[in-house]
Amino acid sequence: MKDLSYFLGPEVKAFFTDVSVDFKRPEKSVVLTEDQSSYLRFLNMDPRRVAHIHQVHGDGVLTVDAAYVDEGVVADADAVITSDPSLILTIRTADCVPVFLYDKKAGAIGLAHAGWRSAADDIIAKTIEMMRKKFGASAGGMKAALGPSIRSCCYQVGQEFCGIFPEYVIPQNGNWYLDLQGACRMKLLREGVLEENILDVGRCTCCSEDLFSYRRQKEKAGRHLSILRLE
Ligand SMILES: [Zn+2]
Repeated sequence: MKDLSYFLGPEVKAFFTDVSVDFKRPEKSVVLTEDQSSYLRFLNMDPRRVAHIHQVHGDGVLTVDAAYVDEGVVADADAVITSDPSLILTIRTADCVPVFLYDKKAGAIGLAHAGWRSAADDIIAKTIEMMRKKFGASAGGMKAALGPSIRSCCYQVGQEFCGIFPEYVIPQNGNWYLDLQGACRMKLLREGVLEENILDVGRCTCCSEDLFSYRRQKEKAGRHLSILRLE
């Protein structure tokens, strides 16, 4: 389990779970397994307050409130935002980049699932924009953290990616490798997030045997849960 709260600030709790519990399922239900629930309770998170989403590798940003959780809704989205400290934002990843966002002044948090497709579709800019619109957040006052995800050491892609992320595809020995974290950082900077307010935890899920990786484990790969809550 990785604790990212130290960087984002004492007013938030931010975690990236380890492989001791797999959060791949349930896919469209709010009912967690006993293992998953007790893991959350161990982190002092009430499993009943999780705002669940169904990730679809799109660019949808969902604003959640207490009613969303109380009604047990699971909407399609790849980013989720709130200003309600009673709610727990989560996304599930194996190799995609989890992007944690926090604006202290606005009292707002956001969590985005940035696979290459969503990143190319500007999910990061769209999440920041929605935080601005709904909660008066500003990128200049925001902190952002990029969690463990597949990095350019392992992320071999096809040449077509040169057209999608021209500055972030690295040629090596006749192959192409994508620096998705670099692309995410650029998207954050372009929105106005300050360099010193961006943390890249720098761990590659594919070459870390103690992390889930879709690239390395294929269908057997579990999912990590990224967790974000206001204190
Ligand atoms: Zn690697």
